[in-house]
Amino acid sequence: MIRVPPLPEAKKINCITPTSYETFKTCYLRGIIESNINFKKFIYFHPKTILGIVSHEIISDIYSNNLNEVLGNDFNSIVNTIKEIFKNKCQFYANQSKENPFILKSNDVENWPGYNMRLTRLIRFIQKNVNTNGKKQQTLKNKGGIEKTYEVFNGKLKGKPDRIRKSNDHEIIIEDYKTGQILEAGSLKPHIRRQMLLYSFICQEAFKVSKIRSIVIPLFGQPYEEEVDLLEAKSIANDAITILNDVNRQIEEVNSGLKSLLDLATPSKNACRYCSFKFVCGRFWGNHELRLSKDSFNVEGKVLGYKQYGKFTNIYIDCNLSKIVILKNINEIAGSLLGETIKLIDLQLEDNDDLYFIAVPTYRTIGFKL
Ligand code: SF4
Repeated sequence: MIRVPPLPEAKKINCITPTSYETFKTCYLRGIIESNINFKKFIYFHPKTILGIVSHEIISDIYSNNLNEVLGNDFNSIVNTIKEIFKNKCQFYANQSKENPFILKSNDVENWPGYNMRLTRLIRFIQKNVNTNGKKQQTLKNKGGIEKTYEVFNGKLKGKPDRIRKSNDHEIIIEDYKTGQILEAGSLKPHIRRQMLLYSFICQEAFKVSKIRSIVIPLFGQPYEEEVDLLEAKSIANDAITILNDVNRQIEEVNSGLKSLLDLATPSKNACRYCSFKFVCGRFWGNHELRLSKDSFNVEGKVLGYKQYGKFTNIYIDCNLSKIVILKNINEIAGSLLGETIKLIDLQLEDNDDLYFIAVPTYRTIGFKL
């Protein structure tokens, strides 16, 4: 188990992207930590996230012609190769979190929840796009498209849509692939829509066109297509730059000693629930309602003892919560933690009586020594 690293230095943010725009909108501190290279490794812990990243990587590889050789084969061979690539990529991301003893089954990638469903959807997506009308195979590799990072506002706003096609001199089509649900109450989810608007603004500047269509292609279900309102796209782009400037203004205040980096945190259920940096965020730990909820039970305390049950271990932690926390079903050595003060993130509270909180690790659980 590694030790909790210190908060990163407050460094100026050079650019904002459609993805980081969403993060900064919920919490400046989260966006600052996420942009720090040393903290990237903490982002991918949840298997569901990894499955999404891997599916997206494979689709991007197909459209970027990186899998031409694979797609030239018969369909059974394609399926077998994709299965292998999928598993290896999942394993790669799982290995990044290997040091952490509190991740149950994370190295057993084929048993992750959602593994088979994601793989099946990916294969169906390829099948749908590779075989057309039972005629000669029309492979995705032939569909081409431009894939590169574009920037505007002197590099302050950057974006790389999955694919851009030119319909004529005045119109382009921007496509983006999504591995999860894209609709909410029949409309495109607001954060996906904002992302497409930002891509549109960036590409309009780059291609000097007067018309843009955006298409969001889910792994499962119908694509969502619309003609982009370019004025709306411009307004979102201006908002992104306003946020970037405000973040940098506040970073300057931190570096001048006028405020602390933690003052840039805006804890809320929405922002913190899936934030990977709770372990380093003092504002989150100071908010009992957020840190001690049933589904995200976060504790810090001294390991008082442990008991082994077959291949699992329960550990007992004194967390100054007026009760002892029993953490069940740890699958690793707990003896080395005896007497250590540890911090555990994203447990699930299973039970609660007069003497004990009983918690279990989840797929998001990570642990640190202090
Ligand atoms: S835990 Fe919450 S407040 Fe802290 S950085 Fe993450 S989102 Fe922001």
